[in-house]
Amino acid sequence: MRDVSPTMKALVVLAPNRVEIQEVATPTPGPNEVLARVHAVSICGTDVHLVRGDYPGFWPLSFPFIPGHEWAGEIVAMGPGADLYGWKIGDRVSGTSHDACGFCQKCVEGHYNLCENYGKPGLHKQYGHNYQGADATYVVQGVKTIFALPDGISYEDGAIIDPASIALHVANRGGVAPGDTVAITGGGAIGLLSGDAALIRGASRVIVLEPNDRRRAKAAELGFETLDPRAGDPVEAVRALTGGLGVDVVLECAGVPVTVQWALGMLRRGGRCAAVGIPTVGVEIPMQRLVLDEIELVGCRASAGEMRRVMPLVEQGRMRVHDMITHRLSLSEYEGALATFNDPTSGAIKIVIVP
Ligand SMILES: [Zn+2]
Ligand SMILES: [Zn+2]
Repeated sequence: MRDVSPTMKALVVLAPNRVEIQEVATPTPGPNEVLARVHAVSICGTDVHLVRGDYPGFWPLSFPFIPGHEWAGEIVAMGPGADLYGWKIGDRVSGTSHDACGFCQKCVEGHYNLCENYGKPGLHKQYGHNYQGADATYVVQGVKTIFALPDGISYEDGAIIDPASIALHVANRGGVAPGDTVAITGGGAIGLLSGDAALIRGASRVIVLEPNDRRRAKAAELGFETLDPRAGDPVEAVRALTGGLGVDVVLECAGVPVTVQWALGMLRRGGRCAAVGIPTVGVEIPMQRLVLDEIELVGCRASAGEMRRVMPLVEQGRMRVHDMITHRLSLSEYEGALATFNDPTSGAIKIVIVP
């Protein structure tokens, strides 16, 4: 065991919209868990909702709460059994959030993101959502949720592996095939990384729809075709770009009712929409078109097995996580970092916090 101080700095959400950096007890790793020194943790759109108290009683179950689920760090202590899985002190790791039961039918089939024991005490945890997270000097996580970070990936980039794995999951769920034309609604981190994931799966064209000028410029800088949905009817614009046919796949990364409707509207007959954005209200779906044009609409939750698969793609520069990082701040600057993240003029894509 390395020198671990009994207390640590942590971002504590005391109540909706009330955060404070506090000195709290350093957690102790239990069976099959490790304690990691967090070297970088990135702010996710989910963190914003969570701090605002948008999911009362669910994410988190109660306040006070320590969020943070996209992180990288170094193992400094291990609970009983963790060594049996090959882990040792000093290992560099990247974390993800779903610590699923491993026994239900969904887990056994590899869909641990859909664990049927979700949130049941003792069976399932989702770090930084319903269980203490990584916005702190140290974090405890189960061995199912940590992945060896290759030497070629920095801690900073390692904090973006979790969202990169989600982006790959979205493109996988979208069934992107070689030569496909893919549209992406929303040019945030998940949208842009989903663009990379689509290219990795062989897409020939990726069109990013994003109203924010700075984000759209970023998408163009990364080599994607871009479209400003405010410039006219985005469905017509995408059809005009595709000889009137529409796109093979839409990766819906905005989570707004109208973007879901655009997504379905701009699909080619027989096309498929994979949605990862979560609208907070119901969305009217054109069922006639869905049935008669055999449109597929699938949901995408977190990732399931993509953490390890995405690492070499990051190392090879094909999944461009480093290009997502626009700001770097310390844990004590978290409130300002959140304000920057929420400011549409800031150009923020990913903000990395160094605790
Ligand atoms: Zn996230
Ligand atoms: Zn399960």
